[in-house]
Amino acid sequence: MRFLPPVKPRVPALLFAVVLTCAPSCPAFEPLSGLPSLRRSASTTDAETVRPYLSRLGSAPDWSRLDAYQHAITRDEFVYLLEHCYAAKPSAYQPFLSILSDRVLIRLQSNDPAAGLYTLHFAQASQIPIKRQRFWRKREELPRQPDDGSLPLRGLRVAVDPGHIGGDWTKWDDRDFQIGRHTLRIREGEMTLKVAKILQRDLTRLGATIGLTRESNNPRTSLRPEDLQDEARQYLIQRNRIPSSKSISFTASQMFAISSEIDARADWLNKEFQPDVALCLHFDAAPFPNPLRPSFVRSNYIHMLINGTYSEGEIKEDDSRLEMLLRILQGVYYSEEKLASLAGDALQKETRLPVFSGYGSSTAQRVNDNPMVWARNLKANRAFLCPTLFFEPHCMNNILTYRRVQAGEYAGLREFDGIYRKNIYQEYADGIAAALVKYYGR
Ligand SMILES: [Zn+2]
Repeated sequence: MRFLPPVKPRVPALLFAVVLTCAPSCPAFEPLSGLPSLRRSASTTDAETVRPYLSRLGSAPDWSRLDAYQHAITRDEFVYLLEHCYAAKPSAYQPFLSILSDRVLIRLQSNDPAAGLYTLHFAQASQIPIKRQRFWRKREELPRQPDDGSLPLRGLRVAVDPGHIGGDWTKWDDRDFQIGRHTLRIREGEMTLKVAKILQRDLTRLGATIGLTRESNNPRTSLRPEDLQDEARQYLIQRNRIPSSKSISFTASQMFAISSEIDARADWLNKEFQPDVALCLHFDAAPFPNPLRPSFVRSNYIHMLINGTYSEGEIKEDDSRLEMLLRILQGVYYSEEKLASLAGDALQKETRLPVFSGYGSSTAQRVNDNPMVWARNLKANRAFLCPTLFFEPHCMNNILTYRRVQAGEYAGLREFDGIYRKNIYQEYADGIAAALVKYYGR
């Protein structure tokens, strides 16, 4: 059972600065200055305490994780990454980050100015760059491959994350439908697991070490929706929503199937497996014209996601703000963007899918000239602290996709609408393997 993060007692800002100073020469934690004050949250539980504003099921962050990145990034690079990829717009981060000439002041608790600030000092442009703490390796840091090219991915550690969950657990997950009788149900979590197992086999043959965030259709988390009723109610109250039994039940389901499940996967990935790259496998879907009666849609497309485009509301979440900053400080973006471009191209070549026309809202933004690649802030691509590629090929409710899923994992090729194709799962895995060999194989 997991409990709500403890409610931090209010302490005078000066005391906070003394207690949490990270090093004698580097007072990272400072009393408030330089940032606009925020209105006290409606969630204040009493006159003395303020419950931190966190993501769904989030935990209060440990800001000392930033200590390893003092003087590690120049101001120019920090601002570039923040504005080019991570913040939806400058006004999204300005209430929480104050960028000065030599340092950035970071609000420790967005809804309580008295909690103070963390000071992160920038590197000088003339300074020799220090190695930034991270467990993942860039491609030039991997061991050299055998000259005969037999193991192009030797030494590479790849985490494969089959999106969602399967079996009866899909009732919490909403990625499950059936059109017509006597047909296979379409369950995204079961389809992604099939691709993951093929990748595990094929990438191992190419020399990589593979870990799966889940090996079966069961969830990795031990929490269940019934354990999360209190957390769901508190979350709704803090966001000024009415905690009706229906909304609590819905939020608790999402806390189970998304938040807690991805937390459990991220815990294993970041602390135990520590890969060089993470692959989040998904199948896309277009909205049903009538959600109560599933029917086929014409749409069928592909796109790729990397982490970015945080809204003001997301940067306001103390735990999300720290995770965003860690990605910036580790320079995750550079590998992520290049790999997403390559992988999107390779997968499109295999699938022959048209490119997704784009997000109609401000939830995602383009970061390069590849129309397939979008930056979007999702729980998994924020929590997996390494280059993380989010694959979104095929609309599951398109009739061609549906027919290919019904055909299963056949060997060789089969004709669909005049084109001979591999089975849909092998095709998916082949696109990814081709991209990894192209990027990492030397
Ligand atoms: Zn999905």
